Amino acid sequence: MQQLEHLWINGEFTQALGEDYFDLYNPSTAEVTGRIRMANTDDAVRAIAAAKAAFVDWSQTSVEERLAVLQRMRDAMAACQDELLHAIVQEYGAPASRSAWMASYPVAVIDQVMHDLRQFEFSTSVGKALVKMTPLGVAGLITPWNSNAGFICGKLAAALAAGCTAVIKPSEMSGLQTHVVMKALHAAALPPGVCNIITGYGAVVGEAISRHPDVAKISFTGSTQTGRAILRNAADSFKRVTLELGGKSPTLILDDADLATAIPLAIQAGFMNSGQACIAGTRILVPQSRKSECEEALRKAVEAVKSGDPLDSQTEIGPMVSDKQWQRVQGYIRLGLQEGARLLAGGEGRPENSGQGWFVKPTLFTDVDNSMRIAREEIFGPVLSIITYRDDDDAVAIANDTDYGLSALVLGADMQRAERIGERITSGRVQINTLAHEAGAPFGGFKHSGIGREMGRWGIAAFMEPKAVVR
Ligand code: NAD
Repeated sequence: MQQLEHLWINGEFTQALGEDYFDLYNPSTAEVTGRIRMANTDDAVRAIAAAKAAFVDWSQTSVEERLAVLQRMRDAMAACQDELLHAIVQEYGAPASRSAWMASYPVAVIDQVMHDLRQFEFSTSVGKALVKMTPLGVAGLITPWNSNAGFICGKLAAALAAGCTAVIKPSEMSGLQTHVVMKALHAAALPPGVCNIITGYGAVVGEAISRHPDVAKISFTGSTQTGRAILRNAADSFKRVTLELGGKSPTLILDDADLATAIPLAIQAGFMNSGQACIAGTRILVPQSRKSECEEALRKAVEAVKSGDPLDSQTEIGPMVSDKQWQRVQGYIRLGLQEGARLLAGGEGRPENSGQGWFVKPTLFTDVDNSMRIAREEIFGPVLSIITYRDDDDAVAIANDTDYGLSALVLGADMQRAERIGERITSGRVQINTLAHEAGAPFGGFKHSGIGREMGRWGIAAFMEPKAVVR
């Protein structure tokens, strides 16, 4: 049993002042593996004070000085990749391919931010004015459980590149990963106070950061519901906010699609991170004219998906992160049946031989109407819905008939036509016949999927405000 007691404030490990402990579980076995002491509001106050003091010098550093610190941070994250991988498998149960990607992502994202920083235009001339990009101040970075180290490093690198200092509030469910990151940042000898990490409950520490007048910016990734609370709490002090929230992304299989290539991409998009991904393509839109062919191909593909032990290299789907999440997904599977959807694969309960772990059967519904709750609400599990459409206009209308707008996938043989359809979809990202992403491109959502963008120059600019100096 691991017991984690420490926060990292002003460059030092310090015991959390809070008295509560949060249990950490192995989702593959549902066993408690450790516990983590929760920070309280006093911890938030001292972390914010440290970041505020550090901002005075850090905001004045040159690009070269920032790059040197980012390089140390990158090297430290590279050195702890194996330890991080172990923590990810233990606390998330992410399958091998996914956890390997998650463990390598911190290095990749810091590399990308360093690249973007080298290109970043800190000043431009507009007539008589010199417009200078100016760091906002202390940034509160609040991250979700589902790719904790990656989100911490991505947000932190962008904040530091902009000249901001940071207070990070990671998910309480990611204690092991957070511990690895804290040790790495300590080893990287970041200037004291430029980064502070305090794990605590969202409703306590997250709220304290979102409301504190000395925090100028909140960069949040998590659920739409929490994003709404943060936006309200940040309003009194007019904080700038970037919100990366939930999704209910559509995958459009066009009528000219080659199913042999389209179906594997649709399945991969839908079951990404065991379905626990904001961008998961959980609504699969198929043409009415090819309904039974698509249903059959998707059913076979879902039945072939291997769910189970995350350490087995063949495993594609691991457990849900928590019992709460397992119950939630089961509830949605029951709801789908009550709403009149037809089950093609999977269903309620655990897959065979999965023990007490929080495993869910990869599940596929058809005859789903886009007005059903299983088509409208983020399930955050391996549950896919087939929805039929009449023609391209109908497909676009259904794709856009959602509160969300984070990502979309269009699959079709005629690339230009697929691109034209993609242009009509309201989402922060559209992928055409690929699941590849471009690390320097902006990432974020329309509608209830968020506000603002991360990544690339947009991600650095999100921690800054333009200032016009007129001469
Ligand atoms: P969550 O909203 O429950 O928690 C996210 C973080 O917010 C945690 O650190 C939590 O402690 C904190 N928090 C909770 N209440 C708070 C409050 N009142 N004030 C401030 N902070 C508070 O989300 P989660 O379950 O950890 O993550 C899953 C969600 O994240 C899904 O909805 C998913 O779609 C979304 N997500 C979005 C993206 C994206 O880039 N758009 C990426 C990953 C995950």
